[in-house]
Amino acid sequence: MFSAGSLYRSLGLFGALFAQSAGVAAAPVSIIFVIGDGMGPSYTTAYRYFADDPATADIETSVFDELLVGMARTYPGDSTLVTDSAAAATALSTGVKTRNGAIGVDEHHKPVQTLLEAAKARGYQTAMVATSPITHATPGSFAAHVGHRSENNEIADQYFDQRIDGRFKLDLLLGGGRQYFERKDRNLVKEFRKHGYAFAGDWQQRHKLKRLPALGLFAPEGMPSALDSEQPLRLQQMTEQALDLLGKKPFFLLVEASQIDWCGHANDIACAMAEMRDMDGALRVLKAYVDKHPDTLMVVTADHGTGGLSIGANGVYDWDVASIRGIKATANRIADQLLAADENWQEIWLQLTGMNLSEAEQRSLQRWIPHSRLSGEDAPQQHNPAAVKGALVAQVLTLINKRTHTGWTTSGHTGEDVQVFAYGKGHEHFAGNLNNTDIAKHLFRVFAK
Ligand SMILES: [Zn+2]
Repeated sequence: MFSAGSLYRSLGLFGALFAQSAGVAAAPVSIIFVIGDGMGPSYTTAYRYFADDPATADIETSVFDELLVGMARTYPGDSTLVTDSAAAATALSTGVKTRNGAIGVDEHHKPVQTLLEAAKARGYQTAMVATSPITHATPGSFAAHVGHRSENNEIADQYFDQRIDGRFKLDLLLGGGRQYFERKDRNLVKEFRKHGYAFAGDWQQRHKLKRLPALGLFAPEGMPSALDSEQPLRLQQMTEQALDLLGKKPFFLLVEASQIDWCGHANDIACAMAEMRDMDGALRVLKAYVDKHPDTLMVVTADHGTGGLSIGANGVYDWDVASIRGIKATANRIADQLLAADENWQEIWLQLTGMNLSEAEQRSLQRWIPHSRLSGEDAPQQHNPAAVKGALVAQVLTLINKRTHTGWTTSGHTGEDVQVFAYGKGHEHFAGNLNNTDIAKHLFRVFAK
């Protein structure tokens, strides 16, 4: 059989032979790899409607629509068919399917070379940007090799300890996760600084990173959620900074919109759309960069879907995106504000959600809010503050999802194929239905040229 894969392979070989026989060394191609964690296809559809300008009759297309080229199969190397971020990121970073939880190692626990490491071995500059801890499963799988994703300290150690031809693997890290670098048993920030890395330990010090190598760790754990953050476009801003710092040499840049997944796990649609808006901003910056620098290839995909998001739910043929646009905080922060409120809790609810409540809806929230608690049978039996908060968050989400006709099927991941987007030099190799490992294999070929 003459498969699309073998066709690409022979074209790749032909291209390499042609370049050799012509005696022309191809210019090195910079690679930008963007991953929307948890961004199944329903997220990009939902975002198109969320980002639409209601003042115009048409529904405008999004940057995702402009860049779409194909789909990818995400199943992991074990028999579950539903991947986690570690196995998926390892497939995307190495071209090898592995079991869930594994970071940069195959099913037999053997380390596998990643795209970022191959880039460094070719003399590229390397950078990773994420809104999660920079040691989280996705970035971890591009620059570390450990048996389980929970080993954040070991992943941070490897960023420092593992060298390629005597050089540090990473020229730039921007994201969260400072606690894994500044620890009681080891201070990696000190060690990096001793080796010439510029360092910023919070967002306000960001401007101190004026040259490479550099380390920006802007939060102890994950960065604040886009919807609750004073910097709702922090991924876009970090991406701009990374491009400024990387300058003119060929580079490999990983950008992860980490928290789409976290909003999906929470089944929080307003939270997810705010993360998508930040990713949209980052993609526009990157697309403009590729337009100016034709020797650049950008590939964008998701590792898996999260939450089983549906546009429309409970048999209703409608999705109330206008109401979603009016929500100003994550359900988690709405619950915190309601718990801190007294008799004015309804005012706070209205400020944060823009939604008027029926009497039954009011009661469903009120029973969890101490200062306005109903007496008698309706009062909750729960006295544990964490359990009360959890119940209130769940009730807030129930109201928002019901009102907006947003559906969710799980608090975990889902196994449908994800979209692949590509732009710039060689983007045509990513069209059609690929295995997620094919994405890495095509990118390795870019280095081989
Ligand atoms: Zn997840």
